[in-house]
Amino acid sequence: MKNDMYDLTIIGGGPVGIYGAFYAGMHGMRTKIIDALPQLGGQLAALYPEKYIYDLPGHPKIKAGEMVDQLKKQMEQFNERIDVVTNTNVQTVEKLEDGTFKICTDQECHYSHSIVITAGNGAFTPRKLDVAHAEDFTNIHYFVSTMETFKGKDVVIFGGGDSAVDWALMLDGVAKSVSIVHRRHEFRAHASSVENLKQANINCLTPYVAKDVRGEKNLATEVELVNVETGETKVLPADEIIVLYGFISSLGPIKDWDIELEKNALRVDITQQTSVSGIFAAGDACTFDGKIKMITTGFGEVVVAINAAIAYAYPEKVHRHKHSSAMMK
Ligand SMILES: Cc1cc2nc3c(=O)[nH]c(=O)nc-3n(C[C@H](O)[C@H](O)[C@H](O)COP(=O)(O)OP(=O)(O)OC[C@H]3O[C@@H](n4cnc5c(N)ncnc54)[C@H](O)[C@@H]3O)c2cc1C
Repeated sequence: MKNDMYDLTIIGGGPVGIYGAFYAGMHGMRTKIIDALPQLGGQLAALYPEKYIYDLPGHPKIKAGEMVDQLKKQMEQFNERIDVVTNTNVQTVEKLEDGTFKICTDQECHYSHSIVITAGNGAFTPRKLDVAHAEDFTNIHYFVSTMETFKGKDVVIFGGGDSAVDWALMLDGVAKSVSIVHRRHEFRAHASSVENLKQANINCLTPYVAKDVRGEKNLATEVELVNVETGETKVLPADEIIVLYGFISSLGPIKDWDIELEKNALRVDITQQTSVSGIFAAGDACTFDGKIKMITTGFGEVVVAINAAIAYAYPEKVHRHKHSSAMMK
């Protein structure tokens, strides 16, 4: 049953998708934005939140994480007509006979008059801990949002980048013990954070990797580590394990949606329409002659895509004069 039909569904909540949702909201579209990760922000949030971006108009320099916050704030002005669905990987997209769309995830199906795909290089998933049966343990975490879970516990963190180092520092004094395990000697985090790590009461284990995780039923209780240079092993108690190895992205199900692809991206025309009418694409997910994969170009593309999506869904409501963008109100 098409119980809840949206004007527009945006698949992918990176910078281009968030800006697209704002722009669609501003133009009166009831919009849903879906992302595979628990948080919006795409590559900026998942891969480089602490890195400065220097090439965004109006921002001489801004950290990627801050840029995501600003984009979300801009989108939230139209909260009443924008629904955000996170932690949800879109699996299938089907065009129905009346020209509307059925979009199904592993949890439910959504209905929409039009679609803009801003899925970047595909859905992000965290890199998993490479030991047998890791997926059996419910106390191995790939995302951390609250410190409460770790209070008074023996916590082992795997990873050597900013996220791993920052969480180790934040849990120092909250957890009973904090160990950070990294396969190289040097951490890849900010120099000041690495300096703080040395001063903190944190057990730094380098160059080690996980060899085994053992526990009872679905709870891990200890990890066995191996030194990658000497082969020496160590066993640590572990009430909670945090793995921050970064993310991998893969076009995954998008490849099966019967939309023309070129070099792993969706080929679009000058209105950003894909080979399926009513489905548009913008940002890193799309390609055309002269395409440049940047945030600013994605912003421009998504504006074109949304105007075209409005024209597809509601041709009768689109303003006729050429120089104004489409308005639904
Ligand atoms: C290290 C690094 C530094 C960079 N620096 C700059 C810079 O300084 N300036 C610049 O302009 N660009 C920079 N870029 C490039 C820039 O990050 C990308 O161009 C930009 O992120 C593209 O945005 P997007 O919204 O199109 O896609 P993304 O940011 O990739 O977001 C796509 C989102 O879609 C979601 N998704 C995908 N498939 C699905 C699905 N099936 N279901 C649900 N959700 C899905 C993903 O989980 C992801 O959150 C940099 C990139 C990297 C890696």
